[in-house]
Amino acid sequence: MKNQKRNTAPELLIQKANVDKVIAVMSGKGGVGKSTIAGLLSSSLQQRGYSIGLLDADITGPSIPKLFGIHQTPLSSPEGILPVNSTNGIKIMSINLLLSEEDQPVIWRGPLIGRAIQQFWKDIKWGDLDFLIIDLPPGTGDAALTVMQSLPLEGIILITSPQDLAGMVVRKAGNMAIHLGIQIIGVVENMSHIICPKCGESINLFGTSHAENTAHILESKLLGRMPLDTKLSVMCDKGEIENYYSKEFEIVVDNVLQFGLVNDMETSADIKV
Ligand code: ADP
Repeated sequence: MKNQKRNTAPELLIQKANVDKVIAVMSGKGGVGKSTIAGLLSSSLQQRGYSIGLLDADITGPSIPKLFGIHQTPLSSPEGILPVNSTNGIKIMSINLLLSEEDQPVIWRGPLIGRAIQQFWKDIKWGDLDFLIIDLPPGTGDAALTVMQSLPLEGIILITSPQDLAGMVVRKAGNMAIHLGIQIIGVVENMSHIICPKCGESINLFGTSHAENTAHILESKLLGRMPLDTKLSVMCDKGEIENYYSKEFEIVVDNVLQFGLVNDMETSADIKV
């Protein structure tokens, strides 16, 4: 299966002994909810008892601190910079936490962005982690390339939305991963439908979903579909993503774990959506 080749890039940095699995969350384009899904994934895994780090690799458009309501400047120790703890104890690092003003832009060319991401891996004192979740910037640019070529990724999760264009661009992102020998853990369709608050009916706002087909083309699985939920966007805006729960997202996390991440990639046969 083309999606099983492992990354053997010469630039690959060594696995940190205390970080067990590194998972990157990727999308073809912006606005499909990639950072939100990276935040929800971190939060759900943390609530299931795993120790979690969340690295915001979206250097020019960082949004992870805002989702978690974090504004503190990271502390440094003799062994390196310490990530900031979220309310529930997720260890978070983002370029935005290192800027004096959070609306200050980062105007860097690709190589500098790549180096910053590598330093986030090498020089941050992550401590013991079961999972490090990486929120990549959208698309197949420099930052994604750096992460895929230099960090010891277990795999990537692709986020798409129901519109066909998002499916096309996410296939580009997926094909980049395949090309670089990175496993695709699966595809999540976000803002897939809405649930009527009165009658509970599921309405496909953007017509028929293409996510199953997208996953199939990438020889991967559909991990789940997340509805468009006003409660989620309000909680994201308030920095309270950790307090959000939805059964649809718990199915996504069940499927991520069933991919075999806990027991070393055993099976993905009984995935449920
Ligand atoms: P990306 O990282 O792909 O650019 P974000 O995660 O920043 O996208 O999400 C863009 C916006 O959409 C945010 O305001 C977020 O709160 C909102 N959003 C994401 N997913 C959902 C969802 N399922 N329901 C409601 N709002 C959502």
